[in-house]
Amino acid sequence: MRIKELLSSRDFGADVEAKGWVRTKRGNKNIAFIALNDGSIIHNIQVVIEMEKFDEELVKKVTTGSCIAVTGKLVESPGKEQHVEIHAGSLKLYGTADPETYPLQKKGHTLEFLREIAHLRPRTNTFGAVLRIRHAMSFAIHKYFNDHGFYYLHTPIITGSDAEGAGEMFRVTTLDAKNPPLLEDGTIDYSEDFFGRQTNLTVSGQLEGELGAMALSNIYTFGPTFRAENSNTPRHLAEFWMIEPEMAFYEINDNMNLAEDFLKYLIRYALDNCRDDLVFLSEMYDKELIDRLNFIIDNHFERITYTRGIEILEQSGEKFEFSVSWGVDLQTEHERYLVEKHFKKPVIVTDYPKAIKAFYMKQNDDGKTVRGMDVLFPKIGEIIGGSQREEDLEKLNNRIKELKLPEKELWWYIDTRRFGSAPHSGFGLGFERLLLFVTGMGNIRDVIPFPRFPKNADF
Ligand code: ATP
Ligand code: MN
Repeated sequence: MRIKELLSSRDFGADVEAKGWVRTKRGNKNIAFIALNDGSIIHNIQVVIEMEKFDEELVKKVTTGSCIAVTGKLVESPGKEQHVEIHAGSLKLYGTADPETYPLQKKGHTLEFLREIAHLRPRTNTFGAVLRIRHAMSFAIHKYFNDHGFYYLHTPIITGSDAEGAGEMFRVTTLDAKNPPLLEDGTIDYSEDFFGRQTNLTVSGQLEGELGAMALSNIYTFGPTFRAENSNTPRHLAEFWMIEPEMAFYEINDNMNLAEDFLKYLIRYALDNCRDDLVFLSEMYDKELIDRLNFIIDNHFERITYTRGIEILEQSGEKFEFSVSWGVDLQTEHERYLVEKHFKKPVIVTDYPKAIKAFYMKQNDDGKTVRGMDVLFPKIGEIIGGSQREEDLEKLNNRIKELKLPEKELWWYIDTRRFGSAPHSGFGLGFERLLLFVTGMGNIRDVIPFPRFPKNADF
């Protein structure tokens, strides 16, 4: 049995076994109390060792961080903190952890320090909680889509297209960096490369997602995406996971309804299934966490156009670092103003200027704006970016030409508008942005087990 099950058992007197890592050991020469954790739950189980029954040398080696197996009787605990404890009958030491060198000796390490020991930080309460919530959210995402008739589509991680325009890309190559084959004009000859062409790590599965939607109607992707942006912010990673549903026959309003329902479902799922971990994180880092989660569920998401958003910001009298006028992209400070100060609700902004959005967004009749939609959350700003897609072949082609995108490389994407085109929409939810919100953590590097960011790819 895992410690989670043992802690909820009331089968007093039963012979049980527990295996896990020692969080603390205290006691005296007659008795020792070990707090044991196996990652199944935030709480530890207390193991009581009567010293006279054990080899003293063995018990001495059981220190913080060591790994043990204990068998014994499950008994009702006299302590206030727990209902049950184990009175040990036998003890097996799997692995010691030298107290001189094991870095997780005491509580209260900074999150920055824990990032440097990311190989061990899953053993802390904080990262145990974050990783369990991360798991629960992944599961809930698949459950939501499966229950709603969406198919999970696996889009490629290595892509030949660099036209998505979502961000700077990492190149994938097997060419010799010191001595690459060159063309006559001195540029690199990628026809000699592994794929016979230039390839990159994907920044988004959307374009391939659209191909799936044009056959299966409703699909979603959930995979790693990569951006080689040098953004050292608490909200950007170089490798992050993205969820991208794509739906045939959905227009922008259907898209917004789905995004709102989906986010509310996920947050409700966390409240219903991750209570202990949320309570821990809220007590530890962010007293308003649970209120903020309920705030999302309880409120209708305000829906406004970009143009209206700019008016509100211009009339706000607020001093922003980045000034506001029609045509500029909204910065996080603007997004948070709309959500936290003006509407006091999550906000969905639609109909952005076409110049600041991607080529595939459906053009409005005004000739100036496109049917994009961003969902803005308190503390985070943009959590979802999406749009209705341009389904008209001619309009799409014109936009590709205007932006001088590599038309030839996009032949397969353009084909969907040539053969059985249909109105369709979709969006991208950054998984770690969602987790930032749900866990209340302040830095995106602390909601993924092994973060990738500029100048760091350890572990
Ligand atoms: P931002 O303006 O915040 O950089 P973006 O406009 O580049 O985001 P999109 O290209 O629309 O973002 O990507 C869709 C979603 O992916 C975003 O809404 C966000 O949740 C998430 N996202 C984007 N870039 C990153 C990143 N570098 N690290 C983590 N999540 C990201
Ligand atoms: Mn970005």
